[in-house]
Amino acid sequence: MGLKEYKGEKITVSFDGEICKHAAECVKGLPEVFNVNARPWISLDRADAEKVVEVIDRCPSSALKYKI
Ligand code: SF4
Repeated sequence: MGLKEYKGEKITVSFDGEICKHAAECVKGLPEVFNVNARPWISLDRADAEKVVEVIDRCPSSALKYKI
């Protein structure tokens, strides 16, 4: 139920709010893309897809996943 999908030009990211551990690796790693105060909170076209991938790889819970 908690799964949401966000589409950017080059990358699609899914986020499962139920398994997020709120470690904030995403918001610390790329605040222009992952901004909990914005709606939608993930804006993929504000950074290179490679950067987004790098930060998502650091997510400890695998709540964030990507497709290129
Ligand atoms: S890095 Fe992963 S676990 Fe941490 S807040 Fe972001 S989505 Fe949640």
